Amino acid sequence: MLFKPAQPSIHGETLDSLTTLLQEHGHPGFRARQITEWLYKKRVRTWDEMTNLSRPLRAWLADTFELDPTAFVLTKQSEDVTDKLLLELGDKSLIETVIIRAPQLGVGQENSRKTICISTQVGCAMGCKFCASGLEGLKRNLSAGEIVHQLIQVCRQEDDRTPRARAELASFDNIVVMGMGEPLHNYDAIIRALTIVNAEWGLGFGARRITLSTSGLVPKIRQLAEEPLGLRLAISLHGATDEVREQIMPVNKKYPLKDLLPAVKEFAQKQGRMVTLEFILIEEVNDSLDQAQKLRDIAWDLHAHVNLIPYNTVEGLPWKRPSLTRQEKFARVLADAGVSVTLRREKGHAIDAACGQLRLKTEKAREAAAS
Ligand code: SAH
Ligand code: SF4
Repeated sequence: MLFKPAQPSIHGETLDSLTTLLQEHGHPGFRARQITEWLYKKRVRTWDEMTNLSRPLRAWLADTFELDPTAFVLTKQSEDVTDKLLLELGDKSLIETVIIRAPQLGVGQENSRKTICISTQVGCAMGCKFCASGLEGLKRNLSAGEIVHQLIQVCRQEDDRTPRARAELASFDNIVVMGMGEPLHNYDAIIRALTIVNAEWGLGFGARRITLSTSGLVPKIRQLAEEPLGLRLAISLHGATDEVREQIMPVNKKYPLKDLLPAVKEFAQKQGRMVTLEFILIEEVNDSLDQAQKLRDIAWDLHAHVNLIPYNTVEGLPWKRPSLTRQEKFARVLADAGVSVTLRREKGHAIDAACGQLRLKTEKAREAAAS
């Protein structure tokens, strides 16, 4: 199912794998560190900019690897604080990477906190009823290089305008694995990608500032609990009982709450981190006070933080977000019990920033243009 490009992406190689490859082809292994400097600190756009490498080595790299596995199709900027990059892959598939800016008082736009939302698959196999990403099923997994390169694209964009980039740091503050796709359904690639992002020779980005969100693949959550990387975990709960969750998330049939919740608890205990429960509020589906009370009990038991997200309408789907009063009443049930809860004032609605929507629109427009 993985698209096999003519050349693998160099951004999918670790320092070790690159060293081995170089040595196997008669190049000194220490060149690997110079190459990763160019890739992750200087973020060059051509092989020829790697000026401390010999011409033959640069030619070998160009023959062996893809330097840019993703290309810009468009950037959509909203009036608020969200930018969306639509990227095209080697097989013409489209993915989305979102930059969410949280303005801080007293500092300019330049210094606002930035969270980058990355995709892990083209489409998604999980079939959640409310989500644009899953509407047309899974097309394919992204490779580790394609996942890492989304962040390189963001860095390059920001390099041109932020002073922080000059210090060779990643010019953002948090990464959320919450774009298109189910990350734990592409486990090896996402772990490899985030290992590269985290490595000192890579983007050097702290794992504590990376949050991976999953619809609840229980065996993979247990596997993640054993990883040394130290990621944060968010669970897309969206229903506080099997009855409600099952209606909107087919994955709940395979992994019901009695299996999911203990796995989440195990993750929190093994990793020593508070987990976040994401709960989209959808009118008359999961927004009753009974659901709020059950969610409160689950969160209390797990010592989890709850992130309430008013539903973002998706063209062609019947679901709606509840009124503000209803959202607030729901949140109050949790807050009054001392549960840590935030009610998200959603950003990016204006530019279709919700999961998968921009890609779907662009694909539909392409199909219309072709027919
Ligand atoms: N597949 C993973 C990560 C990607 S989805 C997961 O499901 O967790 C990221 C988040 O966006 C999930 O919590 C998902 O439920 C939510 N989401 C999907 N469609 C949405 C919509 N229309 N409005 C608001 N949130 C949505
Ligand atoms: Fe896939 Fe997540 Fe969308 Fe569900 S919510 S279809 S798991 S991307």
